[in-house]
Amino acid sequence: VTSAIEAAFKGIRAAVGPKGIVDDAQEIERYVTETRGMYRGQTGLVVRPASTSEVAEVVRLAGEARLPIVPQGGNTGLCGGGVPQDDRSIVLSLGRMNRIRNIHPADFSITVEAGCILAEIQKAAETVDRLFPLSLGAEGSCQIGGNLSTNAGGIGVLHYGNTRDLCLGLEVVLPDGQIWDGLGALRKDNTGYDLKQLFIGAEGTLGIITAATLKLFPRPREVETAFLALAKASDAMELFARARAASGDQLTAFELIPRRGLEFAARHVAGIVDPLDRPHAWYALIDVSSSRPESNLRASLEAFLGEVVEAGLIADGVVAASAQQSQQLWRIREAMVEAQKYEGGSIKHDVSVAVSRVAECIERLTAAVEARIPDCRPLAFGHVGDGNIHFNVSEPARDNYKREPATTKAFLTRRTELNDIVHGIVAQMGGSISAEHGIGILKRDELPRYKPAVALELMRAVKRALDPDDIMNPGKIITLNEPKAEARPRRRAR
Ligand SMILES: Cc1cc2nc3c(=O)[nH]c(=O)nc-3n(C[C@H](O)[C@H](O)[C@H](O)COP(=O)(O)OP(=O)(O)OC[C@H]3O[C@@H](n4cnc5c(N)ncnc54)[C@H](O)[C@@H]3O)c2cc1C
Repeated sequence: VTSAIEAAFKGIRAAVGPKGIVDDAQEIERYVTETRGMYRGQTGLVVRPASTSEVAEVVRLAGEARLPIVPQGGNTGLCGGGVPQDDRSIVLSLGRMNRIRNIHPADFSITVEAGCILAEIQKAAETVDRLFPLSLGAEGSCQIGGNLSTNAGGIGVLHYGNTRDLCLGLEVVLPDGQIWDGLGALRKDNTGYDLKQLFIGAEGTLGIITAATLKLFPRPREVETAFLALAKASDAMELFARARAASGDQLTAFELIPRRGLEFAARHVAGIVDPLDRPHAWYALIDVSSSRPESNLRASLEAFLGEVVEAGLIADGVVAASAQQSQQLWRIREAMVEAQKYEGGSIKHDVSVAVSRVAECIERLTAAVEARIPDCRPLAFGHVGDGNIHFNVSEPARDNYKREPATTKAFLTRRTELNDIVHGIVAQMGGSISAEHGIGILKRDELPRYKPAVALELMRAVKRALDPDDIMNPGKIITLNEPKAEARPRRRAR
């Protein structure tokens, strides 16, 4: 570390005070390691500013010394976006900025600091009889700044949209240290470019989100949950289409679970049991909800289920009799994710296609990976009501899966090969190689193969305009030194 860097670190330490610095080596480890252990980085300084002005001062000082800044929320991201790359990098953790600044039930809005944990925002909304609908497995530890920066999806997208759709305004510290106050609860504001959208999904590469005004919704009074057994993935999609059309827009979640996922969960996670008597190939987990107190939701759900049973679409099913039973059914969905790590190595994909092509996509992906690695165990699940499939491939079954034994390691070396197969098919189907998790470093080098060169160059132009010195989370999503689109061979104009 040179003296210029040391001087910058010293200035930053002074700007945030002792409470704003993490010095303990063990604690620092948390900030340099990705949640699944796929990446371990390096940092020169971990700062935890307490206010927007402190963030601005840190960014200004880091910018003067051209030091990379890596913003971090709950560090639950799945693409390595929050991992610092070297000992010049400053991790800027937003965790101390966790105040709810104001909440306006009449405006159906809430203004929060970036470090607020998602579950805390949901609770705050409930206290004023409102709903903040963003919901995902990591909601107990991810932060809204991270959710906005990854444009997180989750189980409520079907009805309420992605995080991008839930944001009314942002406060951002720009790479030159300026503060942009774009907060506000306006539902309509056509005064030029919608700047907040630039920072949403930017994974910290354009600035640091310090606060946000978010949309609230009427709180559901009735929620019904059903766990339904299906013979084929295509039946699930037929069920989805019928449920959506019949529900009068009350279908708020539609998740697909394969038999293998339920078996993984029951094998490894305490308290998970198959709610049905016989095994079935696929399951749909659905929620319908209504904010009207007496909506007869259960009666209409049961009538609908009667119709689809008669049509031979579902083989069996259970409707939760209480909120507790509903939670138990949803627990299967979460436990399936948790259980995969006990089944050895898993190569994961987060892809999307048009909703109408989900079943075809699952069939094609399964056939292709099984042809390449005959005993591998594909696990296709997820938010299929949004066309989003988590297509994870577990290593072939064996008796025990000790931590990183040779067979697991050997399986994981086939990641690139499987990525090429899966992403290749998804691209052929007009889909996306990242539905909701982002790009980070995980998919950065693959992105140019799937995104038009013109789009990549536009992204670089935006990055250069806002962050010419490339200090804001450099090397994530895109790199600036790629050849320009113009420098590549061009198709001859016809
Ligand atoms: C069990 C589990 C379930 C999950 N389920 C889902 C799911 O259903 N849907 C989904 O979309 N994701 C899911 N995720 C992924 C993850 O939770 C989300 O990506 C989440 O939005 C990340 O929030 P975070 O606060 O942890 O961000 P981090 O991991 O800390 O950061 C993510 C990215 O955002 C940047 N960043 C963080 N804070 C800021 C800020 N204030 N300003 C600028 N940039 C910032 C970081 O630099 C990084 O690039 C899941 C993860 C786990 C572990």
